[in-house]
Amino acid sequence: MSRVYNFSAGPAVLPVEVLKEAQEEMLDYRGCGMSVMEMSHRSSMFQEIIDEAEADLRDLLHIPDNYKVLFLQGGGALQFSAVPMNLMKNGVADYIVTGQWAKKAYEEGKKYGKAVKIASSEDETFTYIPDCSDLPIDDDADYVYICQNNTIYGTVYHELPNTKGKTLVADVSSCFLSEPMDVEKYGVIWGGVQKNIGPAGVQIVIIREDLIRDDLPDYVPTLMKYKTQADKGSMYNTPPCYGIYICGKVFKWIKSLGGLEAMKKRNEEKAAILYDFLDNSKLFKGTVRKEDRSLMNVPFVTGDKDLDAKFVAEAKAAGLENLKGHRTVGGMRASIYNAMPKEGVIALVEFMKKFEAENT
Ligand code: PMP
Repeated sequence: MSRVYNFSAGPAVLPVEVLKEAQEEMLDYRGCGMSVMEMSHRSSMFQEIIDEAEADLRDLLHIPDNYKVLFLQGGGALQFSAVPMNLMKNGVADYIVTGQWAKKAYEEGKKYGKAVKIASSEDETFTYIPDCSDLPIDDDADYVYICQNNTIYGTVYHELPNTKGKTLVADVSSCFLSEPMDVEKYGVIWGGVQKNIGPAGVQIVIIREDLIRDDLPDYVPTLMKYKTQADKGSMYNTPPCYGIYICGKVFKWIKSLGGLEAMKKRNEEKAAILYDFLDNSKLFKGTVRKEDRSLMNVPFVTGDKDLDAKFVAEAKAAGLENLKGHRTVGGMRASIYNAMPKEGVIALVEFMKKFEAENT
């Protein structure tokens, strides 16, 4: 077996321990004679899998009892619509646009009401997080929306915006379970799992119960009402069973390493190795304002497109995969999610040192 160090932004690296366990259980899950893929979602066996996954997630994030956990489908992109469809009661929502995913959510929000862009960092290609301490929050705003970690640009909110009492909704797709969160500060936390938690196809929505409405307009599809899935334990229809099963294993893996505090420490250590190198390099340069740097996604450039391409190609040949930056920004990006071992980051930095010596 030969595994590369996979720096993909998502779908992304998963813990080897989890993959091995899944491999062992692939043909015969705990003596039931079938794979989880082949199992009815109405079986007691699968009910146990989803219940245990939810319980472990609740433990990890200390989710209070008045929040529901939903395991949904449709990708992050569907949540861009589900959020306004479910939460726009007054028909107004404020959006802080810090990258492409926040912008897409904002554009989608406009379809269902008055979505207001109250702050943006687009003027500097999303390389920073705007000051959110005193924003012009609408009196009627049903929520304030953020994308907490910006996968493409490598920025993160180190401090949550002052929403002046309005409900905070956060897309945490690319920083999910990378560090502790205070769930009570949010009305809705949602994220796709394909970066830090599991295979593509599962969205996790953590929503305060009082925000789950049963008076939605007729046009809202049944499956997109949070109430539908909250009432049915995420099983109004067939859920993404196998994905939920893998998420459950990743929750246990995180617990076994010491939970989210330990995960944060591990992620800080890894990120420091890469940022320290970037800050002292003669060739490579990080692209993000230092105070706003993400622990998960680290974009960098040489300043020369051809050299960037050479770097990506040579890194790939050396077993360091998926380092090409997002097509809209170019350069490089190393995604160093929970499951990327420290050894992977060290290997990357060693390779960068060698490349620098050969190309300066
Ligand atoms: N939000 C964030 C932060 C993302 O990084 C992405 C995709 N990488 C999305 C939303 C969109 O997710 P999907 O491709 O599942 O629609």
